[in-house]
Amino acid sequence: MKILSILSVAVITMVSISSAIADPKNKKIAVLFDSRMLAHDTGINHPEKPERLTTASTAIRNAKGLIKHLVWPTIKEASDETLQLVHTEDYLRLVASEVEAQEKDQTAYLSTGDVVISKDSDMASRVAVGAVIEGVDQIMFNNNTFTAFALVRPPGHHASADRGMGFCIYNNVAIAARYAQQRYGLQRILIVDFDVHHGNGTQDIFYDDNSVFYFSVHQHPLYPGTGSPQETGSGKGKGFTLNVELPKGSGDAELINALNSKLVKAMDEFRPEFILVSAGFDGHQADPLGGLHYTEKGYQEVAKVLSDLAKKHADAKTLYVMEGGYSHDNTSQSILAILHALAK
Ligand SMILES: [Zn+2]
Repeated sequence: MKILSILSVAVITMVSISSAIADPKNKKIAVLFDSRMLAHDTGINHPEKPERLTTASTAIRNAKGLIKHLVWPTIKEASDETLQLVHTEDYLRLVASEVEAQEKDQTAYLSTGDVVISKDSDMASRVAVGAVIEGVDQIMFNNNTFTAFALVRPPGHHASADRGMGFCIYNNVAIAARYAQQRYGLQRILIVDFDVHHGNGTQDIFYDDNSVFYFSVHQHPLYPGTGSPQETGSGKGKGFTLNVELPKGSGDAELINALNSKLVKAMDEFRPEFILVSAGFDGHQADPLGGLHYTEKGYQEVAKVLSDLAKKHADAKTLYVMEGGYSHDNTSQSILAILHALAK
């Protein structure tokens, strides 16, 4: 009895300390960036290049209104064990051996798909995964951090358990979802993907899973060709995949409408405990790869919709993970627009 009452005092004390530390006025956004990700060399003419991250990280560091809201945690390379939350051991071996075969300043294609690799690609990709893992930890652990933005490359949403493709080696956002489940016991995770391309890898990984809801809004027709509204999941995952196709030329209004008319309603039933965002900026009107007409204002509006959703169901917990986006200044401005929305 005495032990019980000591325990309950301890629990009450812990709860009151934790509510004293959490101060809504002092809320922080964790930005996950590490220059080791720049070492993934794709050659000078490839759109997925280091400048994507350097332009964005510089813009964020110089954004005066944001500085006081941001924290920049240290990032560790992800271990084999972390990568195997999603990927097969054979695939890890394949990546390691094909990357190790590269000489300095040499590039080649990964044998599983259209991904340029070079000497440091495995290390850089592991740092990208380490960044999203740190993002999850910051949100789950740090009382004042409810949101985070992982500024990472290579992107991840086209990579499945045993196949890299579409510039992606490891599926950053999928690993973050599995890590949040395994490390923190979360039961229901939502992944929202607004990259111009469908995230075939992420869909594939969670297709028969009812604990991770995958929502994608993307241009159709376009690479990789998957993501029709008829693809809704299988087995116990039936109904936990939701795809919205937009025709070329669609803009902010169509994007916001997809979220409001499809996603918000589905989440009233699913009630996610944590929201992950595959944040691709190749739907921007100035992007060289996509044919959609999103603007900075549209991305900010998306952040507001997702923020309301996260506050309603997930105690605001939201981690943005960068995917595509190949017009550097526009990608940077779009990220700033999102960060400003998160800082409100
Ligand atoms: Zn993309």
